[in-house]
Amino acid sequence: MEFNQSHVAPLIDDEFQGQASKRVLSYIQGKRRQGMPVAGLYCVYAPMELIRAAGVVPAGLCSFANKTIPPAEAVLPANLCPLIKSSYGFIVTDSCPFFALADVVIAETTCDGKKKMFELITGYKPLFVMDLPQLPDQEEACRNWTAMIRNLGGFLEKTFERRISEARLEEEIQATNVKNNLMNRLFGYAAATPPVLSWNEAYELGLLAQAASTEDLQPVLEHALETLEQRKVSGVHYGKPRAPRVLVTGCPLGGDSLKAYRIIEEAGGVIVALDACTGMKPFKHFIEEGSGDPLAALAAYYLKIPCSCMTPNQKRLDDLDALIERFRPDAVVDVVLHACHAYNVESYKIMNHLKERHRLPLLKIETDYSNGDVEQIRTRVEALFDSLDR
Ligand code: SF4
Ligand code: SF4
Repeated sequence: MEFNQSHVAPLIDDEFQGQASKRVLSYIQGKRRQGMPVAGLYCVYAPMELIRAAGVVPAGLCSFANKTIPPAEAVLPANLCPLIKSSYGFIVTDSCPFFALADVVIAETTCDGKKKMFELITGYKPLFVMDLPQLPDQEEACRNWTAMIRNLGGFLEKTFERRISEARLEEEIQATNVKNNLMNRLFGYAAATPPVLSWNEAYELGLLAQAASTEDLQPVLEHALETLEQRKVSGVHYGKPRAPRVLVTGCPLGGDSLKAYRIIEEAGGVIVALDACTGMKPFKHFIEEGSGDPLAALAAYYLKIPCSCMTPNQKRLDDLDALIERFRPDAVVDVVLHACHAYNVESYKIMNHLKERHRLPLLKIETDYSNGDVEQIRTRVEALFDSLDR
């Protein structure tokens, strides 16, 4: 039986059905009321374990709404990535509730646009910028990133007048491994044929998992696993059994840019893998436990994230190979946000790799947060599905 979101038991059973960011906001507000400080984040390179070991709650900041772009364009160039413009627009219009809760902001030097935008928001909140090495395979990269993580620890200790112990750091490392293991088991239900987990559920679980501690999250994830198993046993699946399976890769998506996922679904595809920082990417790897140097273990773990700001970004191809083997897509859709040069240029390498190694077609979609291109994207996705020899 094909599942309809309104007829199956939800994976997270609370009052926030379909309102993932409200659920996360409510969670962070609850922590704030308990007296915990909050750190606003813009990127998955922020070392969560260190932040949590300092007793600070991480909060991803808003960056996915079209409505905050016009106010941002009063200052920023129009031909800049919508994610950066939207982030900045949220700050200048004071409309990001997570930023309002944040005591500090942690930012990384990933792409140029983001790095320069951070300069413009200095002064709103204490901002700690981490210099991210972009040649991750060089010997110095791990050493330099370890030093940056140590500096962040010093900043958090000084700002919040507390000490981060090595024992707490080790506990948080273990907690992340438990969380990533649970998330990977959940994603396994999307790998099933036909899939049992929808892209929307994978996306919502990922959003919550980035915000919540493992202690708070574990019962939620275990309940979700039980629900998915029940679906599987009773033959409930997502999408038509012979629907084209799609792996989506590229820039992080959320809010208004989720239109790309919706169009794929409306065209009859099932999204089985979300290869993005707002999807499965942050949960893919594990951190070395008991290494004796938890900061270096964290540095090595975070440098495995294959953001296109890295060069050469061989890890992205390696991770794609593993995803393709596990999720067995019929096609790959690469979603690139306008003016994101790094993901845009890298798309050519991805296309050739998929063609040569996997004989898989790639559809590149360049888009922004507006609705102006919805019908054009729909036509291209439908043409992709028509072209598949299934
Ligand atoms: S795509 Fe790169 S810059 Fe953006 S959130 Fe992911 S790691 Fe950070
Ligand atoms: S989508 Fe690209 S340009 Fe935009 S913030 Fe992320 S890496 Fe930078």
